[in-house]
Amino acid sequence: MQQPVVVCLDLEGVLVPEIWINVAAKTGIDDLKITTREMPDYDKLMRQRLTILDHHALKISDIQDVIGKMGPLEGATDFLAWLRERCQVVILSDTFYQFAQPLMRQLGFPTLFCNQLEIDSQGRIVNYHMRMENPKKHAVAALKMLNFFTMAAGDSYNDTSMLAEADKGFFFRPPDHLPKEFPGFPVTQTYSELQRHLSEASSLHG
Ligand SMILES: [Mg+2]
Repeated sequence: MQQPVVVCLDLEGVLVPEIWINVAAKTGIDDLKITTREMPDYDKLMRQRLTILDHHALKISDIQDVIGKMGPLEGATDFLAWLRERCQVVILSDTFYQFAQPLMRQLGFPTLFCNQLEIDSQGRIVNYHMRMENPKKHAVAALKMLNFFTMAAGDSYNDTSMLAEADKGFFFRPPDHLPKEFPGFPVTQTYSELQRHLSEASSLHG
């Protein structure tokens, strides 16, 4: 008998749009468009983002309003519903619970492992706290230790260790250069393609 299946999904780029890029577009603050591509030091980048938010007097509620208007990617809600009927699903993200909240509501509050913002009584974001180093990889490794068959899908560099750790890993709409660097993971561009790969790699019913 096959082990029970857990599918670990990245959030941004797989189920919802990139949060910071949308916040930059909707607030008109161009400096918030800077990502880890321009500034690989994540701590430095986050400190800069928090300084910019503070400078514009943006509070958590302002950011949540923007994020609440974003909505999941087209087809994401149906894909997630399809998957949750067939196996366990955990979303592994480097974002923050307070940012993800409005999008999680639209997705029916699936299980999400991510990080926390520290917010003061006025609603200012004063700090951020990562739960641990390399959390996506550790989460998949822990689920394997619990004797689950693990599959994972993601679109970015920060997903590759999770994809490698999983019994089966898949790219979903990655930038062109990524599959060249990591040719071991099948590339999927649509939810139906991803569904097919997940079904073929395990006992999920199509
Ligand atoms: Mg992503």
